[in-house]
Amino acid sequence: GLPEVPVRPIAERRVSRRIQVGPVAVGGGAPVSVQSMTTTRTSDIGATLQQIAELTASGCQIVRVACPTQDDADALPVIARKSQIPVIADIHFQPKYVFAAIEAGCAAVRVNPGNIKKFDDQVREIAKAARDHGTPIRIGVNAGSLDRRLLQKYGRATPEALAESALWEASLFEEHDFRDIKISVKHNDPVVMVEAYRQLAAQCDYPLHLGVTEAGPAFQGTIKSAVAFGALLSQGIGDTIRVSLSAPPVEEIKVGIQILQSLGLRERRLEIVSCPSCGRAQVDVYKLAEEVTAGLEGMEVPLRVAVMGCVVNGPGEAREADLGVASGNGKGQIFVKGEVVKTVPESKIVETLIEEAMRIAEQMEKDGASG
Ligand code: SF4
Repeated sequence: GLPEVPVRPIAERRVSRRIQVGPVAVGGGAPVSVQSMTTTRTSDIGATLQQIAELTASGCQIVRVACPTQDDADALPVIARKSQIPVIADIHFQPKYVFAAIEAGCAAVRVNPGNIKKFDDQVREIAKAARDHGTPIRIGVNAGSLDRRLLQKYGRATPEALAESALWEASLFEEHDFRDIKISVKHNDPVVMVEAYRQLAAQCDYPLHLGVTEAGPAFQGTIKSAVAFGALLSQGIGDTIRVSLSAPPVEEIKVGIQILQSLGLRERRLEIVSCPSCGRAQVDVYKLAEEVTAGLEGMEVPLRVAVMGCVVNGPGEAREADLGVASGNGKGQIFVKGEVVKTVPESKIVETLIEEAMRIAEQMEKDGASG
C-alpha cells in the first residue's frame, strides 16, 4: 500500500489546561480545532441549523451563534439539541442571556470582557451556573470593545492592554474558583494580535482561541489569519482557531483547515502540487489545476496530486506525488507514484486524473480495512 502522509508537528505545543466544549477537547494537547460562526439570525432556527449543517459538512468542529435578543436566546435550546457539533452562544451585553444559554445546553458561552464589567456582581452566579452545568466560558477580548479603564491606562489596544484585560476578567472568575475558561484576545492587526497572544500564553495556562478580528474580505483575511496563526502555532501557541472573513462561514472553515494542514498540525487530505507555469508550459496550468482541484474536492484520503505544465520538470516533480500529470504536445502523461501509467489527450487529463484518484483512494481504503 501507499505510505501514510506523516503529520509533523512544527513545535512543542504550549502546555495548557484542557476544557471540554461538548465532545470536543480544547487545550491540554488536544488537536487544534476549527470553528466558525453562523451569519443567520439565530432566532431563525431553520436557517441557523441549515447553516450549521453546511459548516459541519465542511469540517467545522465548533460553531458559535450570536445571541443579541430574547428571541435568539429562546432559539438556543433547539439549536443546541439539534446541531451536530457543539454550539457556543456568543453574548456581548446581557447576563440574562448567559444564564439562558447555559440552561439551553450550549456547549460553552462566550462573554465579552469589555462589557462584562457591568455585571461584576453577577460573575458569582454565572460561575455557579456554568459549574453546575459543566459549561466552559470563553473570555473574548476584542480590541474594539476593550475595557475603558485599560484603554485609559494604555492609550489604545496594545498587546499589553489586551492580555491584561483578559487576565483580569479571568481573575473575576477565579475568585469564585472557576477556571473552566478559554481566552481570545483579538485585534485586526496580526502583529499586535500575535504579541498579545504571546504575552497571554506566558502568563496563564488557559487554552487559547486564536482569531484576527475584522480580518477583511477573503483574500486579505486569509493572508492575515494564515500569517498570524502560523506565527503563533509554529511556537506551539493556540488550541482552537477561527478565521474571520467577510465571506460565507464555510470559506472560513476551508481556510482554517488549510492553515492547520500547511503547518502539519492536521493530516493533509487532498493536496494539489501545481507548478506556477512558465514559458515552457504546454498547457493552461491555472485552468487545469483548478479543474483538478474541483474534480477531486471532498476526497477523504490523503492524496498529493501534481499538475505540471511541461515534461521538463514535470516527471521529476510528479514522482514525489501519489498521482500527477505532466503536459506536452497536447497530451498528458499520467503518473502514479512516479511511473507513467498512461498518456492521454489534453481533453481527457482531468477525467483520467479523477479516475486514477478514485482507484488509489479505493485501494487505500481497502489497505486500511485489511489492517
Ligand atoms: Fe515551467 Fe514546466 Fe516547471 Fe511548470 S513544470 S514551471 S511549465 S518548467
